[in-house]
Order: sequence, then C-alpha cells, then structure tokens
Amino acid sequence: MSDKNFPPIGFSSVAVHGGHRQDPNYAHLTPIYATSTYVFDTAEQGMRRFSGKEDGYIYSRWGNPTFTEAEDKIAALETYGINKNGSPLNVKGILHASGMAAITTMLLSNLKTGQKILTHYSLYAGTNDLCHQILPELGIEAIIMDLRDLEKTEDVLKKDKSIALVYLETPANPTLQCVDIEALTQLAKKYGKKVGVDNTFATPYLQQPFKYGVDFVMHSTTKFLNGHGTAIGGILLGTDLDFMNGKATKMQRVLGGNSNPFDAFVLINGLKTLEIRMERHCQNAMEVAKFLEGHPAVARVNYTGLTSHPDHAIARKQMRHPGAMMSFELKGGLEAGVKLMNKLKLCLRTVSLGTTESLLCHPASMTHFSVPKDQRQQYGISDGLIRMSVGIENVKDIISDLEQGIIV
Ligand code: PLP
Repeated sequence: MSDKNFPPIGFSSVAVHGGHRQDPNYAHLTPIYATSTYVFDTAEQGMRRFSGKEDGYIYSRWGNPTFTEAEDKIAALETYGINKNGSPLNVKGILHASGMAAITTMLLSNLKTGQKILTHYSLYAGTNDLCHQILPELGIEAIIMDLRDLEKTEDVLKKDKSIALVYLETPANPTLQCVDIEALTQLAKKYGKKVGVDNTFATPYLQQPFKYGVDFVMHSTTKFLNGHGTAIGGILLGTDLDFMNGKATKMQRVLGGNSNPFDAFVLINGLKTLEIRMERHCQNAMEVAKFLEGHPAVARVNYTGLTSHPDHAIARKQMRHPGAMMSFELKGGLEAGVKLMNKLKLCLRTVSLGTTESLLCHPASMTHFSVPKDQRQQYGISDGLIRMSVGIENVKDIISDLEQGIIV
C-alpha cells in the first residue's frame, strides 16, 4: 500500500494498490526480481532465515518479492470487505506455476491414503483427471455426485466418515453448472470437513467464497486474473495461516510448483484492471447470450445470466454478475459447430479463457478430450457443444462475427 494511513476502500483501488510495497530503489512498479537466490549479509543471517527467526528471501522456489506482491494483492481481493469476529479476514496466498499446480498442492496437503474427496460433475478436465487417475493411485477416492442435491449430499457426508474435503468449482466448466457455496459449506462444516473452491470462472470481483467460510480458494490465474493471456499461473489461498505457512508451503516448495518473476509481474499488472475488465466482459456476455438464445439455429445456451439456466438462482445469489463464460449447442450439432469455428473472423479458435479477446473452443475434442465419452455425456458435454469466453471487444463486432458464422 502507498500509505498505511490511507487504506484504499474501493475494489479497484485495492486491485491497483493492494499488496504493493515501496521498492528500495523507488521504482514505481515492483520489478521483475530475476534471481534464483538471495545473498545473506552474514552466515548468522542465513541461519536465522532458514530457522524462520528472521523474515526474508532465501531461494526463489521458496519465495520472491515479485511473487509476494501478486500473492498479497489476490489475497486482498479475495477477502475484500470480509470480516471475521470484527476484524478483516486474513488469508495467505501461495503463487504457483499453474492452476493445476495450485490445485495439486491443495489436494496433496489435505488428503492422505484412505481418505476421500467429495466433488461434483463437470470439473475442469485436469482436475477431473487428478480425481480419476492420479488420486486413486495414492489410495484417495473421489466421490462425484450432483452437489446441488443437498439432501443426498448430506446423506453421503453423514455416512462416509472418510471424506476429508469437499471440492467445488462454480460456475463449472463448460456447462456453467453452479453449486451453492454457502449451503455446501454449512453442510461440510456440520460434518467437520474442509472446503476448497476453484474460483477461476468467477474471479473475486464476481464471487468471494471466503464470505461463506470456505477454507481454500484456488485460481488458474492464467485466465481472468491475468486477463491478457500472457502467462500460465495459479494461486492457492487459505484461511488457516498455520496450515498455509506450514504444510501447504512445504508441499509447494517440495513439489516445486513455484511461479516465475516475469509471469508474476504480468499477473500483477493484469490484476489492476480486473474490475473494469470484468464489468465489460459481463456486459458483453449478457448481450451475446441473448443474441444466441434468440437465434433460430441455436438449440441451447448455457449462461447463468439467462433465466433458462437451471442454476440461474444460485448464480444470482452468490455472484455479482453472471460472468463471461457460456456454452451453446447449434441445432446442426457437431457439423454446424465445426463450420462456425472455421468461419470465425474476429473471435479466436482456441482453448483457455478470460482474455481480452473472445475465444471459442469445442470441449469434446479439446478441453474435455481426456474425459471418457460416457462421463462427458453424464456431465452434459455433448459432441456439439461450443464454449465461449466473451472478450471485451465492441459487442456488436462479436455478435456480427457469430452471426456470419452460424448457418441457419
Ligand atoms: N481450473 C479451471 C476452472 C480451469 O479452467 C483451468 C484451466 O483451464 C484450470 C483450473 C487449470 O489451470 P492452468 O491451466 O493454469 O493449470
């Protein structure tokens, strides 16, 4: 922060100034600390740093000043306006090389052999692969169910004592299914379980899971937080500071999923415009969704801002705006979808999301290719489904591009 006596109040002010410390050389921005290691004044200082008796950097896999600003800025945004027992909520963030690295640190520092994770359909494919392919080899089972059914969820939580963690991704990829963070956190806490939320699609500007008492929030910072598609990255944030400074930090350091100073630098700069970008993304997305819903060649639009979306009410309850992500199916199925993708002139044919550009992809053959077809169908990911991340271009241009690509 620039001055402790003038703490920023608005979300955008926190996005711009939050987490910033004065550079010793008075650079306006925190520089890219391109260094692998840090020099100690004396051997004794090195000893104090290793023993934790003195704060300071040691080695960049363990921490770096450019990472620290990104970590503290995201922590300030995720806890923006949240108080616990009369004081502002304090969380610790650990920056990672990718969203998957952050999710892996969270899962492996919380789960051990014989325990289970309770989660829902339609997770990001990498997380789904972790649950189905990697965790079972470590003796950790994933129970996957529709967590919107709170009665059944309570039954499972009540009966299965080996569940250690409830894992949510909301809105989820690519059907935009939403789960009720507040209701699920209350249930999980009733049975003594921890809760982690992947907040990538929403960002802290639209949704703050810590408001509802969750233990962990993860992001693929690659997406809206960076906002410009310039780097892969991830963050794990948690409320239990002893756990975050202890086991979670140890896990990240040992697994080696650290970020790098350049990626942290571009992330910091992207974060500063989060509010204005999200406002425009969401405004555009609503217009695009309405256009698609009214188009005679479109069979279905999954957008939480439309009353036709089954989770519209949950999204309204916990999100400021319905977001910039949607998926849709053309009446002509896969063939019409491929034609649209090939005819795009402005929007880009690519995976990923959350950039200034509008991006379209085909989940069945791209992001969810590794998910078996029967599972994809169960999750509502049909072969003809197109996913769209609506950018911040002029919305008329985005709609014109879709219009010329959709064949009636
Ligand atoms: N979580 C969600 C919701 C995602 O969409 C993604 C990637 O698309 C990830 C996690 C993984 O993030 P990364 O690609 O940064 O590892």
